[in-house]
Amino acid sequence: MESARVAGFGPTVFSEFSRLAAQHGAVNLGQGFPDFEGPEEIAQAAIDAIRAGANQYAMTQGTPALREAVAAHALRFYGQRVEAHGQVGVTAGATEALYAALLAFTDPGDEVVLFEPTYDAYLASAQLAGAVPRFVRLRPPDVAHLTWWFDDAELEGAFSSKTRLVLLNTPHNPTGKVFTREELLRIGELTRRSGAVLVSDEVYEHLVFEGARHLRPATLPGFDDFTLTVSSGGKSFSFTGWKVGWHLGPERLVSAVQKVHQWTTFSTPAPFQLAIGRALALPDAHFVRFVDDYARRKNLLAGSLSRAGFEVLPCEGAYFLLARTDAFRRASEDDVAFCRRLLLEHGVAAIPPSVFCSPAHAPAMHGLARFAFCKSDAVLAAAEERLSRLR
Ligand code: PMP
Ligand code: GLN
Repeated sequence: MESARVAGFGPTVFSEFSRLAAQHGAVNLGQGFPDFEGPEEIAQAAIDAIRAGANQYAMTQGTPALREAVAAHALRFYGQRVEAHGQVGVTAGATEALYAALLAFTDPGDEVVLFEPTYDAYLASAQLAGAVPRFVRLRPPDVAHLTWWFDDAELEGAFSSKTRLVLLNTPHNPTGKVFTREELLRIGELTRRSGAVLVSDEVYEHLVFEGARHLRPATLPGFDDFTLTVSSGGKSFSFTGWKVGWHLGPERLVSAVQKVHQWTTFSTPAPFQLAIGRALALPDAHFVRFVDDYARRKNLLAGSLSRAGFEVLPCEGAYFLLARTDAFRRASEDDVAFCRRLLLEHGVAAIPPSVFCSPAHAPAMHGLARFAFCKSDAVLAAAEERLSRLR
């Protein structure tokens, strides 16, 4: 018999739409994974690590070489100083670190502040931990705002004496928002005042476009003692299946997350840790080419969507485009119904973004669909062709 904790869980929207896409031969712009390979030398590094015998349990905190690479990468890209031994930990993807953070920093009934739409795993992890989500709505761009924004009073109102954790994602899935310095300073001020921990999910840290700049909250003045940064090798190096994630910050935060990690997975696959350690040390030119290539894919897909008649919202980061579906959506349809019809009748899979919202706020997403552009040129061309038939 299932526990109450898991009773409400079905398959994730990503699994469901990927399955439907495969079943119906749809072009899959749903689940966010690249359908092309990461750098050959990094794949080779994993193979070499296996051949060299890195095949037994890794250290629970993470392989020293990877932790040193995480620390060096933080210094190189953000001027952030962390001790590889004590202030860095490794988990099975960012997902495990986020789940572990929920368990490590909240007791049942404690509150966690989330920005909505919010990556679906945050809500599920909060539920597993028995933490109570308090939402701050991100609102779409309008005449007064060029990008997604939030109301300051709503942010302040989301904090209470029970707030233990603030879970932030920048660059943000699914809106593509990159939080500004001013916004981060305000979030940090409220977090500090409430004595909570700020967990910053930066898995899209190397995917920032249109002149936006990714700011690592942990590097803002005074933030280093209450901020835990989480990232992973999935997005930055196109190896989502390797599930190598890490977290860095003050030792007391890292060790709390590691206490959960020790008793859930204990350690993360050793050869992939070594290979991702190598990836973090790739030269700057790699990261420049990477983001240029993604900007090209973004423009390709944005063009296809606009020509088909969708209104594409601005995207400063991550690898998703949100588009307004008003031109095609039937009066009776919400975003889930629209995305299903788009898949079944037009052969294009997209994600309905209301799955990133609590039921009360889901209607704000009903006129939108999320399209992933981390896809090969052939897939993007097929999407262009299918979308053009919608007109
Ligand atoms: N956070 C966000 C915002 C994501 O979109 C994802 C999924 N790509 C993750 C975390 C999960 O990362 P990982 O695959 O490293 O577990
Ligand atoms: N983060 C990916 C997305 O938003 C999905 C990852 C997953 O399926 N767990 O599409």
